[in-house]
Amino acid sequence: MRREPASELRRWLLIHSKDCPEVVAIFARMRIPRGASCAAILLSQKEVDPVTTIETEKNGTYSSASNSPAAVVGSARSAAIAAVTNYRPSAPAMNFTESPVANLFNANVFSTAVMKQRLPKSVFKSVMRTIESGEKLDCSVADVVASAMKDWAIEKGATHYAHVFYPLTGSTAEKHDSFLSPDGVGGAFAEFSGKQLFQGEPDGSSFPSGGIRATFEARGYTIWDVTSPAYILENANGTTLCIPTAFVSWTGEALDKKTPVLRSMQALNTQAQRILKLFGHTDGALVSSTAGPEQEYFLIDRNFFFARPDLLNAGRTLFGAKPPKGQEFDDHYFGAIPERVLAFMLEAERELFKLGIPVKTRHNEVAPGQFELAPMFEFANVATDHQQLTMTTLRRVAEKYGMTCLMHEKPFAGVNGSGKHVNWSMGSSSQGNLLDPGETPHENAQFLLVCAAIIRAVHKHQGLLRAVVASASNDHRLGANEAPPAIISIFLGDQLTDVFEQIKTGGANSSIPRGTLTVGVDVLPALPKDAGDRNRTSPFAFTGNRFEFRAVGSNQSIAGPLVAMNTIIAESLDFCATRLEEATGGNPDLLHSELQKLLTEIINEHGAIVFNGDGYSEAWHIEAERRGLLNLKTTVDALPMLQAKDVKELFATYNVLSERELESRLEIYLEQYCLTIGVEANLTLEMATTSILPAAVRYQNELASACINLKALDYEFDTDTLDQTRTLVMSLQDSIAQLKAALAESASDDLLAEARHCCDVVLPAMNKLRGFADELEGVVADDLWPLPTYQEMLFIK
Ligand code: ADP
Ligand code: MG
Repeated sequence: MRREPASELRRWLLIHSKDCPEVVAIFARMRIPRGASCAAILLSQKEVDPVTTIETEKNGTYSSASNSPAAVVGSARSAAIAAVTNYRPSAPAMNFTESPVANLFNANVFSTAVMKQRLPKSVFKSVMRTIESGEKLDCSVADVVASAMKDWAIEKGATHYAHVFYPLTGSTAEKHDSFLSPDGVGGAFAEFSGKQLFQGEPDGSSFPSGGIRATFEARGYTIWDVTSPAYILENANGTTLCIPTAFVSWTGEALDKKTPVLRSMQALNTQAQRILKLFGHTDGALVSSTAGPEQEYFLIDRNFFFARPDLLNAGRTLFGAKPPKGQEFDDHYFGAIPERVLAFMLEAERELFKLGIPVKTRHNEVAPGQFELAPMFEFANVATDHQQLTMTTLRRVAEKYGMTCLMHEKPFAGVNGSGKHVNWSMGSSSQGNLLDPGETPHENAQFLLVCAAIIRAVHKHQGLLRAVVASASNDHRLGANEAPPAIISIFLGDQLTDVFEQIKTGGANSSIPRGTLTVGVDVLPALPKDAGDRNRTSPFAFTGNRFEFRAVGSNQSIAGPLVAMNTIIAESLDFCATRLEEATGGNPDLLHSELQKLLTEIINEHGAIVFNGDGYSEAWHIEAERRGLLNLKTTVDALPMLQAKDVKELFATYNVLSERELESRLEIYLEQYCLTIGVEANLTLEMATTSILPAAVRYQNELASACINLKALDYEFDTDTLDQTRTLVMSLQDSIAQLKAALAESASDDLLAEARHCCDVVLPAMNKLRGFADELEGVVADDLWPLPTYQEMLFIK
């Protein structure tokens, strides 16, 4: 029996909204004309558009013409363009005078101030000793802290609590539990015990464990990390108390990203204390690594996002010809922020402020549609958790403004990709920043030692540093002629390079002075000049009082890079401390002469890693090879570095990762690489076969018909375009077949071999296919082209 279109729609809505009373109610209010086509019905529902109405009724904020189901008419591409151009801001305007941002900072955080107010003095002091000095947590305080936390959360409207953890997928995971328990006499009461705060047991057996957990030993525990503050996550319908936790197996092995960060911070502190002691600083104040991650991202209208299966499923465009205008005018970089984007940023930043995330900087980035956000630095573990929350918040808030936030490292070929510059340093409450050179670094022996230790660490473990930023998506940046190159090197800047040059030949006696910057305009003030210029091409750059690791991927958790930096530097500090302790025999008078020898030795042995020139140039690739530096171009080249003997020893010695934990990571990352390429290859096939080829064939057909028609009238027909289309269609078909074959070629069971196959066979086959498709985009009639183009996605706002 032929179903009426109206009942078809009704049926669809009912199927997709079985349990949603709002839909049923709205639907009852809809008067659907009998016999009308589905598209017409949808168009006629402007007043009571079900999707928009549900959203509005639910949270009172979202209503957007761009989300109207009218968008189904015509191709997804044309509907998307129509919807984008009809965009109306829908979120209610925020009022910063009513609720000043300063009052909002930390508003949703179980902060030190809240704890001080709510915890008994002795309990507060005990907790603070763990947070500030790294002392072992006293478990007897559990119940008291839990109870205070629960009361605070419930006052803020929380109904549930969640242990938040960071599995090796790099994402954030959470398991919510209600505070309520039945009281046995028909009621319920709110309960949250110390045990519930300290420990959870999510059934996380589906998270990758890299062989650490077999299904028969699937227990995994989440353990409260007292050093990272708990917070309230808001939702229009309620709030949740979120507790950052470590995630470990039944055997105590780390199944997550957080545990090794904490372990590596502990290792760094231990070794840094020995160095400080040599210089007479014995107060023992905790030395912590600090991190300030700058986040780059793209924003595109959500309608385009949904019209591109590649963006939706792979996070990047697998097709798309270079637009006539890209980023070559540099007119987007630091340009005026578009109205809608600024509105999004203001709201996102406000949300982050409430969560105690000290966001500071925002600006347009190099590529059209690309932006950046940077927070003030924090302790590395807190910065890591906050960075995860920042990514989640950016994605969530973007949706409210009808946009999608893309964090893929290379969403669009041919324009800049996105990275995450992780600024790293270490310091303590009594010593301040250990990487602050002062005005005359050549006299600052402690600074020079720390700096030399880092040079040694980066040189010795360049392979590891490359491995911890390796992923299928970051391969599109690193080593692919984009900042920074896959070769790890250190930029020191003029002043420090000069000091270390002097050290090389005996000792340093001078520092290039900072000087003054004069512009030659009387009304502009003269400025003190920085001691060194910047170098955007360096993967690891000294930027005045910290190092900036620029090779980190925009989508990546910063945990891995921080673990690597903390641990290699801990090892280097250990090496230096041991040498100096032995050489001086505890006699401080000998320190400076012994230090001089050590610095000279380090810079002579490891100075090859220092490079201040243009990292993009071909000359550097040749020079780097001459210096014996590694050039690991792809993830498949880089990841096996995790298996190197010295890396295994490094992590085991400092109790950061056992051999098994390290192996599990290699396995998981290789698997993720293969899965990513697999998804991309299948998407490439699907889009080529079901969207691009049909469009090309239709156009070919149009041209062929025109040719026949004209010839019937005895006119000439220039077949150039037809020939070109025909050739491209054939090439596209051939390349589809080749990609299918490449995918079908069974790679062995060995993950590394499979990853190699993906890298060497599947990816090139995808790229070849894309080449023909992109060429067709420049030939096929625009009204037949199914996918939103680069020009549209990047420039229509
Ligand atoms: P730029 O890259 O232009 O110098 P900023 O001055 O804003 O930008 O600094 C970039 C990042 O470096 C910020 O997140 C900042 O907090 C961070 N940063 C500054 N000092 C340190 C430090 N001692 N340790 C870690 N990160 C730091
Ligand atoms: Mg920077």
